[in-house]
Amino acid sequence: MTKSTKDIYWCKNCLVMSTRPRITFKDGICSACHWYFKKKEMDWSKRQNQLNDLLDRYRSNNGSYDCIVPVSGGKDGSYVCYNLKEKYSMNPLSVTVTPALPLALGDKNLKSFVESGYTNISINLDYNAMQKLNKYGFIEKGFPYYGWLIAIHTTILHISKSMNIKLIFYGEDGEVEYGGSTETQNTAFYDFNYQKRVYLESGYENLLESMDLNSSKYYFFKYPKDDEFFNDLKITHWSYYENWDPYRNYLIAKEFCGLEESDETNMGTFTNFAQNDQSLYALHTFLMYIKFGFGRANQDASIEIRRGAMNRDQAINLVNLYDGNFPLENLQTYLDYFKMNEGEFFEILKKWTNYDLFDVINNKWEKKFYIE
Ligand SMILES: [Zn+2]
Repeated sequence: MTKSTKDIYWCKNCLVMSTRPRITFKDGICSACHWYFKKKEMDWSKRQNQLNDLLDRYRSNNGSYDCIVPVSGGKDGSYVCYNLKEKYSMNPLSVTVTPALPLALGDKNLKSFVESGYTNISINLDYNAMQKLNKYGFIEKGFPYYGWLIAIHTTILHISKSMNIKLIFYGEDGEVEYGGSTETQNTAFYDFNYQKRVYLESGYENLLESMDLNSSKYYFFKYPKDDEFFNDLKITHWSYYENWDPYRNYLIAKEFCGLEESDETNMGTFTNFAQNDQSLYALHTFLMYIKFGFGRANQDASIEIRRGAMNRDQAINLVNLYDGNFPLENLQTYLDYFKMNEGEFFEILKKWTNYDLFDVINNKWEKKFYIE
């Protein structure tokens, strides 16, 4: 190991790595594990009451939609919609921002979700605008679906405003649940500024400055004017109100919303039931791996360890087996989409590589670290 890797370590309980953005550790244990332990002990009735009050305040009595749930057809959005409709008698409007390179299974799951009794607005944004923003994200931020990531915030706000729906439920607060910023651990709501700073990683304003986005094709990628409509808009995460459990969500979505898992394990991991909606996700997690040293298998394994489905040694074996496998089957799709040749494409990957963690030899990433 080189000297500069001395500050690299892993959570003693799961496999969250010290390189993870915004992560904190206490006594060698990551914030996601601390939160997981805390959740078990927590008295959820207080937050449950908060939820009841919130829903009572916004529930529609005239048949109009009273809340928006961004969905992909995957387990989490489906689970949230199911609960709002069946358990709390709300009228959720599900909204999908179609990703750039959708996968057939994601389309099928979204269709099944709709057929199980939900209204869905699927919005297909300007192809060229999305491509330009995704390519910008890939090159400048190492974030290949940055355009889509912007849109799942901005577009939802446009729809909220145009349909006069002032309550928005996202699924989980990934920062709190999987490791990252803990600032929203005890806060139910968050605003535009938090979205821009944490989810869009502060690059959003720079992006606007560096690109001429005046054309209407960028309309849905821009934040709506922050006027009085948004004063009583509430943006929240379902995971604030109950003990978030991705595996339970999967079981519920499978039983009640027609969710199907992939026949094979997903690229770069050992699971088959999450993130089945777009092929850029596999590139996103590969970039995560070469930037930070952890990939999709590590993320999945850490969740599995926390819920007690595997022990840490089993998890390390799976991570060593799956993490960092380049999604070669998708390479031509990526080249076509970004309009790049193979040389240009791999140059971008190399640009985002952390060379304290990896050597790159003939477009193969060889790690210089061992999970301890
Ligand atoms: Zn941990």
